[in-house]
Amino acid sequence: MLNNSTLDSIFSTHFDAWGVASIEPIDEEIAHLRKWLESGYAGEMRYMHNNLHLRANPKELLPEAKSMIMVLMNYYPREWQPKDRPQIAAYAYGNDYHHIVKSKLTELAEEINKVAPHKYAVFCDSAPVLERYWAARAGLGWIGKNGILVNPKLGTFTFIGTLITSLDLEPSGEMENRCGTCRKCIDACPTGAIIDKTIDARKCLSYQTIEKRGEVDNELIEVAGNTLYGCDRCQLACPWNRFAQPHNHPELEPIEGIFELDWASMSRSEFNRKLKFSPMQRAGLKKIKARYMQIES
Ligand code: SF4
Ligand code: SF4
Repeated sequence: MLNNSTLDSIFSTHFDAWGVASIEPIDEEIAHLRKWLESGYAGEMRYMHNNLHLRANPKELLPEAKSMIMVLMNYYPREWQPKDRPQIAAYAYGNDYHHIVKSKLTELAEEINKVAPHKYAVFCDSAPVLERYWAARAGLGWIGKNGILVNPKLGTFTFIGTLITSLDLEPSGEMENRCGTCRKCIDACPTGAIIDKTIDARKCLSYQTIEKRGEVDNELIEVAGNTLYGCDRCQLACPWNRFAQPHNHPELEPIEGIFELDWASMSRSEFNRKLKFSPMQRAGLKKIKARYMQIES
């Protein structure tokens, strides 16, 4: 019998929080996304314009779908990179989380299958699913003014995974938004990219250092400081991270030597060897090196 305590025993083995949302139309959220795209905030991320019908309805990804099981995996680091080094966002300290979360979810979906046979699909940033929205719907937190999911116990440094299932599960219930009058994330953003729950990605240093082709825009170079890859400022400023504890997932530990890498002299073979499974492969060595030279100049 699949009840909450069975699900809890299955999911708590690999994840730090989980919750359930029932699948309903999400027209309002899609309208918000359309507006964001029309405003040009997505910059060069053309893929965000694709597959809106899939984002609007998870049943397009799994026709038998009835429920979304959303999970969080804490990645709050035990050790932070020295501040005087070119800064890498904490999510990129270790190996690529997409594969780690997806393989755990697949394992757990199979565990469920033994108790309650189901059709399922698992995702982690790997399909057009509005993950933060569904995580909030599943009671795992609320979407903060910086557009990031805030969980009152774990904080903001969490990876979100999605398991779409044909099982009709009881929804967990939503959590109220507890940002209140706080605006610490907005004030902490050096580029003014946060416009209340909306991010102008073109100004965001994560976009600038990862997604955008070419170098960081000239007008942002000074405020970007020693930001090399991604940016954690609006998360670090969030007071809900005062409850965050270092993660206990060995597979998320930093790649050996990542804090001391010599970017200036790094060859392609060294990049591919040392950072073979790193999310930094997304930007590629050429872009990272160009950014490093910007910082040094
Ligand atoms: S990641 Fe950095 S640049 Fe982007 S919104 Fe947050 S603080 Fe601003
Ligand atoms: S810093 Fe404040 S406003 Fe921003 S997400 Fe956290 S609680 Fe909300």
